[in-house]
Amino acid sequence: MTENTNKIIPVADMRYASRVPSIPAQLLAPTGLLSDTRGRPLRDLRISVTDRCNFRCNYCMPRSVFDKDYAFLPQSSLLSFEEITRLARIFVAHGVQKIRLTGGEPLLRKHLEVLIEMLAKLQTPAGKPLDITLTTNGSLLAKKAQSLKDAGLQRVTVSLDGLDDAVFRRMNDVDFPVIDVLKGIEEAQKVGLAPIKINMVVKRGTNDAEILPMALYFRYTGSVLRFIEYMDVGASNGWRMDEVLPSAQVIERLSAEFPLTAIDPGYAGETAARWRYADGAGEIGVISSVTKAFCSDCNRARLSTEGKLFLCLFASQGHDLRALLRGGFADEQIAAAVGPIWQTRGDHYSELRAALPADVGLGDGARRVEMSYIGG
Ligand code: SAM
Ligand code: SF4
Ligand code: SF4
Repeated sequence: MTENTNKIIPVADMRYASRVPSIPAQLLAPTGLLSDTRGRPLRDLRISVTDRCNFRCNYCMPRSVFDKDYAFLPQSSLLSFEEITRLARIFVAHGVQKIRLTGGEPLLRKHLEVLIEMLAKLQTPAGKPLDITLTTNGSLLAKKAQSLKDAGLQRVTVSLDGLDDAVFRRMNDVDFPVIDVLKGIEEAQKVGLAPIKINMVVKRGTNDAEILPMALYFRYTGSVLRFIEYMDVGASNGWRMDEVLPSAQVIERLSAEFPLTAIDPGYAGETAARWRYADGAGEIGVISSVTKAFCSDCNRARLSTEGKLFLCLFASQGHDLRALLRGGFADEQIAAAVGPIWQTRGDHYSELRAALPADVGLGDGARRVEMSYIGG
C-alpha cells in the first residue's frame, strides 16, 4: 500500500455514516414481496459505478468542492463487477425488476460493457429479463452507444440542460460543447437504445430560457424530454428555493405554445408526471421532486460505488453491504440481512420537506449524500 493510499482510504470510507447490517439468526429466503413501513415494495435498484465525472455541473459537483484536492474513492473501495452482480442478484430475488446504472458519470467506468453483460443475464424470479438502463451526461455516448447496446443495455437516459452552446458549456463548467452530446443522442437512437429519455434540470435564471427550444428540438423524435426541478440534494450545491422553477410553470410555459394533455403514469412509482402533445408530437414529463413529493410510491434503493445501500436520495446513513461481501458471508446470509433493512424503511424526505416553509431544507445534523456519489 502506498503512502498516498493510506491517506485516502479513511477519508473516503468515512465520508458518509454507515453501519454494517447484522445477519439474522434465522435466514429467511427472499420472497420478492418485501414491503417497507409505508407499504412500498422494492422494485428499482440504482447502482452507482463511479463517483467521478468529467463534468462539473454546478447543481451537482460544483468546482469549489469537487476540485483537484477532492478525495474521490480509491480503486480498492469500488465494488468489482462480480460484487455488483452478486448484490444485484440478491436484490432481484427481493423483487427488483429494474436496474439503472449511474454515477458520477457511468461511462467513465472502464469496461462497463462487461458489467452490463453480466447484469443482462439475471432474471426475475418469474423468469423475465431485467429492465436495464443507464443515465449519462452523453459526453462519451457517440463512441460507446453500439458497444453498450451489444452488451445488452436496453435504453439510455441522457442529461442535457440546454441547447444553447454557451449556456450548456457554462452549466457543465468544463466547456463541453453541446453538439457532442447531441451526436451521442443521435447515435443512441440509431443503435436502438430507445425510447431515449432526456433529463433537463431547470434552474430559474440559468437555463429556463432553454425550455422551449428543448421542447421544439425533441418534438417528433420519439425521445421523451423530462424537466426536473432543481433539488436540494447533497450539501454542496448551495441550493436556494428561488432557483427552483416549479413544474407547474414549465407546463404553463409549454402549453402556451403547444397544447398538452395529462396522461396516466406508465407504471407504479414512476417519478415523472407525463403529458402528451395534443398535435401528436410525442410526450414530455415533469419531475416535481420539490413542489410535489412522490415519496408515497417510492420503490427505489440506491447502491453507492463502494457498496453502501441508501434507502432515500436524501439519506445521510448507508448500510455497508461491501463489508458483508468482503467479510466472507454467503448470498443467503446477505439476502437475509437486506430484507429487514427494506422492511424497516420509513424514508419520505420530500414529503417532510414539503411541509416546511419554502426555502427551508431538513437538516438532521448528519452529512447528506451527494448526488454524484449515489447517482440520480
Ligand atoms: N452523470 C450522469 C448524468 O448526469 O446523467 C449520471 C449521474 S447524475 C448525478 C444523474 C441525474 O441527476 C442527472 O440527470 C442530473 O441532472 C441529476 N441531478 C444532479 N444533481 C441534481 C440536482 N441538484 N437537482 C436535480 N437533479 C439533479
Ligand atoms: Fe456529472 Fe452528472 Fe453530476 Fe453533471 S449531473 S456533474 S454530469 S454526475
Ligand atoms: Fe424516494 Fe426519498 Fe425521493 Fe421520497 S425523497 S421520493 S423517499 S428518494
